[in-house]
Amino acid sequence: MGGKLGVRINVQKGPCELVLLRYSYRQYKIINHIVLYYPGKSFRTPLGNVQRGVTLLEYPEYDVPKEGELTKIADGVFWLRMPLPFELNHINLYLLEDNNGFFIVDTGIGGRRTAEIWSTIIDRLNKPITGVIVTHMHPDHIGQAGALCEAWKVPLYMTAGEYFAARTFRAGAQGATNRPDIEHYRSLGLGEDFLANLSKGGGGYSSSVEPIPVAFTRLYEGRVLTIGEREWQVMIGRGHSPEHACLYCAELGILLSGDHILPAISPNIGVYSTEPTANPLADYLTTLVPFKSLPKDTLGCPAHGLPFTGISTRIDKLTAHHHQHLLELQFACQTPLSAKDCLPVLFKRELSGNHLFFALAESLSHLNYLMYEGKLERNTDSDGVYRFRTVGEVTEPVGDDDEADQFMQV
Ligand SMILES: [Zn+2]
Repeated sequence: MGGKLGVRINVQKGPCELVLLRYSYRQYKIINHIVLYYPGKSFRTPLGNVQRGVTLLEYPEYDVPKEGELTKIADGVFWLRMPLPFELNHINLYLLEDNNGFFIVDTGIGGRRTAEIWSTIIDRLNKPITGVIVTHMHPDHIGQAGALCEAWKVPLYMTAGEYFAARTFRAGAQGATNRPDIEHYRSLGLGEDFLANLSKGGGGYSSSVEPIPVAFTRLYEGRVLTIGEREWQVMIGRGHSPEHACLYCAELGILLSGDHILPAISPNIGVYSTEPTANPLADYLTTLVPFKSLPKDTLGCPAHGLPFTGISTRIDKLTAHHHQHLLELQFACQTPLSAKDCLPVLFKRELSGNHLFFALAESLSHLNYLMYEGKLERNTDSDGVYRFRTVGEVTEPVGDDDEADQFMQV
């Protein structure tokens, strides 16, 4: 299964054994983990989170739930997983025990396979489903929400920003042309081949999201949901999606962080053709800040990866990751570049298909951010391509970024 490197290092909590594990690529898609063994306790952490012998994030040893099974995280909080047909091959979902049933938090992607796993899980529960909470509109989160709400005749809880975006995306273009899409991708520097394929596309969102209920219950910043004996407070994150809801329970010290804060990969922060002039990176960096004030031992329960502690540290790392990208782009754009030209500056891997689509969106989110900061200026060349040029002189950035080069695909 993997190499084992037994050395002793000193970490903040004292001596421990450090074991390097290389998981099978197919199984985990996360390259190296370090397992820190303390007497009677062990933690798993990605290699990138260990610096100078100090572990930055800790992964309490919960059993990763197998398909159709639940792992108890805390009193009344259960973790389950659903498969995803992407490089990112799973999503974490949660069940919160209510007095007379369970609330579901996120639902998995639409389609029969996930629906069947839900049936297996719900059959094993001794209580019905009493509500469905969806953190945000992406298909792996909202995909089964409509089917579950309909089967159990229970309300759908979402923020207004996410609910209406989801309804809109599922409804499609409604006869409007895709001219803005084509103009957008042309402006990023893509060739006619890509644009021709774009004309044939469509239907992706509705094919992976079951019909969305025509009514919802609104979540908003600060709203408190009482589920069982616990109070869960809504905290909003923006940038990865319009108005992403996280749920925080102070009593349990748990944050259901959705895709807003992930332990091992950076959530996709993208500008898409729907709003080409958006500045989601500013939204993201701004809305990460309030989460730094959560108590240090808060357990982050993310939508992808493993439950972890060290939320504030992780936020610092995500923030540094984006700022490093911004500095690298500013340096590179001393020669005017398109968003497509900037891809090798940001990504070290080969890009095609969906990866290219998400990478371009991420590239443009950084370029737009710098443009609004006045650090880049944008000009349109004769073939409709935006070229971004650095304002003033900049020096080559120092430092590097060891953030996993992995994509959110949903
Ligand atoms: Zn997402």
